[in-house]
Amino acid sequence: MKKNNPLNHILLVVLCGFVVLTSCKQNDEKESKKMTDNILLEEWTGPYNGVPAFDKMNVDDIKEAMQMGMELSLTDIDKIANNSEPASFENTIAAMERSGKELDRVYAYYGILSSNMSTPEFRKIQSELAPELSDYRSKISQNEKLFQRIKTVYDASQKTPLESDQQRVVDLIYKSFEMNGAELDAEKKKRYAAINKELSTLYTDFSNNVLHDEENYVTYLSEDQLSGLSDGFIKSAAKIASDKGQPGKYAITNSRSSMDPFLTYCNERELRKKVWTNYYSRGDNGDEYDNNEIIAKILKLRKERVALLGYDNYAEWRLQDRMAKNPENAMELMNAVWPAAIARVEEEVADMQKIATKDKITIEPWDYRYYAEKVRKQKYDLDSDEVKQYLQLDKLTQALFFTAGEIFNYDFKPVPEGSVPVFHEDVNVWEVTDKDSGEHIGLWYLDPFAREGKRSGAWATTYRSHTTFDGKETVLGSNNSNFVKPAPGEAVLVSWDDAETFFHEFGHALHFFSSNVKYPTLNGGVRDYTEFQSQLLERWLSTDKVINQFLVHNKTGKPIPVDLVKKIKKAATFNQGFATTEYLASAIMDMKLHLADPTNINIDEFERKTLAELNMPKELPMRHRTPHFGHVFAGEGYATAYYGYMWADVLTSDASEAFKEAPEGFYDKTVAKKCVDYLFAPRNSMDPAEAYRKFRGRDANIDALMRDRGFPVPN
Ligand SMILES: [Zn+2]
Repeated sequence: MKKNNPLNHILLVVLCGFVVLTSCKQNDEKESKKMTDNILLEEWTGPYNGVPAFDKMNVDDIKEAMQMGMELSLTDIDKIANNSEPASFENTIAAMERSGKELDRVYAYYGILSSNMSTPEFRKIQSELAPELSDYRSKISQNEKLFQRIKTVYDASQKTPLESDQQRVVDLIYKSFEMNGAELDAEKKKRYAAINKELSTLYTDFSNNVLHDEENYVTYLSEDQLSGLSDGFIKSAAKIASDKGQPGKYAITNSRSSMDPFLTYCNERELRKKVWTNYYSRGDNGDEYDNNEIIAKILKLRKERVALLGYDNYAEWRLQDRMAKNPENAMELMNAVWPAAIARVEEEVADMQKIATKDKITIEPWDYRYYAEKVRKQKYDLDSDEVKQYLQLDKLTQALFFTAGEIFNYDFKPVPEGSVPVFHEDVNVWEVTDKDSGEHIGLWYLDPFAREGKRSGAWATTYRSHTTFDGKETVLGSNNSNFVKPAPGEAVLVSWDDAETFFHEFGHALHFFSSNVKYPTLNGGVRDYTEFQSQLLERWLSTDKVINQFLVHNKTGKPIPVDLVKKIKKAATFNQGFATTEYLASAIMDMKLHLADPTNINIDEFERKTLAELNMPKELPMRHRTPHFGHVFAGEGYATAYYGYMWADVLTSDASEAFKEAPEGFYDKTVAKKCVDYLFAPRNSMDPAEAYRKFRGRDANIDALMRDRGFPVPN
């Protein structure tokens, strides 16, 4: 951060203004001191252009900091809206791009407290803040004077176009205001804001209910119930149990990273059923934490809100600025793949049933992973646990750096011990530089392990993004996973799937680091496009260079045997029936829920009916059942957007073939450069379809995806 940031001045001015407003309640001097003392609002100082003060983060400060951050941001906005000069790109759009910096900083802390370090205390604050944040957003999106200025700049640009990146910023901002009700009359605007406020509370309730069920349905096993489970799994289950005050027992937590290996290996069918039922009942237990009613309310409110704007349904409104453009295009893709997916499930079940029949078992959903593993061993002679011995977290991390070095020309070095504050001792930080010029690009934070209060799954986020319009900002990017922390002295061994996910999230991070955009708005992701870059990066895990250097045995240090690699590659299409079907069922459900009339919707019934209409195989569930489908109901990020993973996967498969066809394959410098220049660096400064055409010379088609999954390619 620059030392003499003009915002320091604004900060002081605004603080005074705020004190005046609140002085009737509080002593001026005390209040003023308290405000400026809030560490979470302060400029980031220290090395690497300033870093968040994660070591000084305190949950007690967050509410006030968020409220102050919103206040400051609104003051910036009011100044822009009330400017007496005629509206111009510089005094309106650029000024907006520059606004709200304090709130951006507080958000970095808020994100950590919400996703990495959540506590009941924080969740209470989060619930209190949700409606305030909604009000805050409405105050901007419904600011009439502000919108008129944006419209003036937009209208002028339609006659005299701006520079291309400026034009794109104007187009995106104008569209976003239009989509969020800026053109509604006063009465409708009021209702629009009220709906958003109500929704924000429902989203928070939804995710807190899921978190509650994840934390409170732990299955404790005794020593005689461990049959089939690996030593590593047992050790970490023992540690979790003892951490939870049940020494001598073994804890199976209600998260995907526990459930998945447990169902794959546990020999005790009744226990499998219990763990499966806990997991797939999250948010659906008919108690005060049940999400079904909340979902029905969310759907009704979303529909009412887009109706104010003249749209028939939420999906139509949502997809207009996505690569898919409309729900029909998204459904068309899903419908094209679905029959091949469920046909493959039938084959998979038949293979499994041959083995299960000997155990006098008819395959039920809690048996799928278990017998799939047996078929995998039989058909491909591939033992997931053996593969795991070659997948060490440390080595995989080095593999990420190697890939980034080859394709992006980046170098990763650990920062000097203690030089960058972290929020937990497990977090490590690396400096990212350009290999040739040594130019500082940013910092990469890695928070690898599961812990109480951390949300499940894996994700990537930024604390600060690249921009240049107002002085260069360097990137602070992070990856977050839920690997089970090993017992002391043990290597962290992960499954092939988890290794892929690790590469996936790193792909998001590289997308952040490689940004070359000038304006912050252009860093925004297009939802059905942003998973493409991360999915593409997964492909480097199974390249020879990564395999030979980094996939080495944790005890012997020997590289993974050629035969085992062959088997892994051969097995890549294994279980694609399961993977594609569980995913697509959720994606189709997401879309159908938002295309349906929600007036008297009964979520449980709707889910059952829709699955029946799809001929959903009874042997497996949706990847995310509706009552815990956080992508869609814990916020709006992936609402009618879960299809986006497959949309992006069409691009991924097609782009991978561009690498495969190149002389040097995945390490071909020419294709790599095009990949960085067109697919990563521009982010949203270029229309995604156009960017893809520049990379590939044509549009993507579905064929490569079908080949990758081992499905028949349609004519
Ligand atoms: Zn992703």
